[in-house]
Amino acid sequence: MRETIAAIATPVAPSAIGIVRLSGPEAVEILERVFTPRGSRPLRERGCGALVFGQLRDQEGVLLDECLATFSRAPHSYTGEDTAELQCHGSPAVLRGALEALFHAGARQARPGEFTRRAFLNGKLDLIQAEAVIDLIDAQTSQAARNAAGQLTGVMSRRINGIYDHLVDLMAHFHAVLDYPDEDIDPLEGEEIARYINQSAAELKRLHESYHRGRQLREGVPTAIVGAPNAGKSALLNALLGYERSIVTDIPGTTRDTVEEQAQLGGVLLRLIDTAGLRDTEDTVERLGVERSRKALERAELALVVIDGSKPLNELDRGALEAVRYLEHRLVLVNKSDRSGYQVPPELEGWECLRVSALRGEGLRPLEEKIRAWFDQGEQGSGELLTNLRQAEAILRAGECLRGAGEALRFGLTPDAVLSDVEAALEALGEVNGRHVSEDVTGRIFERFCVGK
Ligand code: GDP
Repeated sequence: MRETIAAIATPVAPSAIGIVRLSGPEAVEILERVFTPRGSRPLRERGCGALVFGQLRDQEGVLLDECLATFSRAPHSYTGEDTAELQCHGSPAVLRGALEALFHAGARQARPGEFTRRAFLNGKLDLIQAEAVIDLIDAQTSQAARNAAGQLTGVMSRRINGIYDHLVDLMAHFHAVLDYPDEDIDPLEGEEIARYINQSAAELKRLHESYHRGRQLREGVPTAIVGAPNAGKSALLNALLGYERSIVTDIPGTTRDTVEEQAQLGGVLLRLIDTAGLRDTEDTVERLGVERSRKALERAELALVVIDGSKPLNELDRGALEAVRYLEHRLVLVNKSDRSGYQVPPELEGWECLRVSALRGEGLRPLEEKIRAWFDQGEQGSGELLTNLRQAEAILRAGECLRGAGEALRFGLTPDAVLSDVEAALEALGEVNGRHVSEDVTGRIFERFCVGK
């Protein structure tokens, strides 16, 4: 029999409310050992989902809190098991005390992601939906949240499962043909199967392509800020980070001399590859500057070239412009618009230029609008975008196998050649929706969750 698990589900910091949750066969019994409802009716007579007011006491009977409790019965719960929840005052001491009391009453500490893992094992969520739970918790922009919420309701699952189920039918059919060689696939039917397989291969390819945008949604659009020393790159970076009060995190750079930070602009998450934070020594200015910009640009999908508009263009400015010339999304920010003698250098004709003052935080609104126009996923981001490398790789494999099956059909190969490709495609899709996935893989997926989810 499964153990009953317990965990604090809200951040352990002073707050209005803190939640401790339980799941497993003994959830309700364990809750009753620590929680006494006000009034004479026992908790389990109050009905599933009712919020019951009462007292929470530790194993010695010491009062910990006056709080609310609720329970649900299997299978009508998140995990598909009996579950219970305590909604306490959000004091870390109360929450830890409540958890200790639950351990004494028979529960054990839940591991990271164990609630969702149980939901998956009990068929309440498929693996795509389970992974959407992490995405939703980690979402940093409303777009990312919208996409994850869409996946949680099954938008992506329906697409994958639709193909998966159809392929299972096809397999059954092919097996029948193989088992009874007299029953051939008639040519018309063969054509229809080929059409379906090719359509599915194309759909999987499209899905795989959505990963590019999905990844931007989750990690941010890799953005390089380049330009000559003293043009105002650091000032711009600070202005962007301070803008909308949206500093998110510092990410250790993938190269030694860059630091990456995330900032939101126009509702779009940017992953700013900072080449500006480091001070160059006099004699290496040029070499290092160019080298850093080059590295940043290798990964960038958006380049912001900062130019000092209070001075004529110099060689370094021209170098920076040249370096971004081939990027699809590039903007020249002609900085220091607050200075006298400022102008947009006439040589910049043909470049998309914005007048800004990084120091004063002026001119950022048009930048925001431009970025939104380029990178906002709009309606597409409602569960339609793959955000997960594991899923994207498996979908790519599945699509390639189906293309193989399509070819085999086209060249009139024997059904078993088609079958083995379809089988491989099914296996790959099964890794995505979780119908064909090893313990190891699910273990690794759920480890990424927080405790209590
Ligand atoms: P970086 O070398 O490109 O990172 O340039 P910094 O951001 O360090 O800026 C170089 C100098 O220009 C600093 O003294 C800034 O205060 C100044 N600066 C940056 N942006 C502006 C601006 O918009 N207006 C004015 N007047 N000065 C600026």
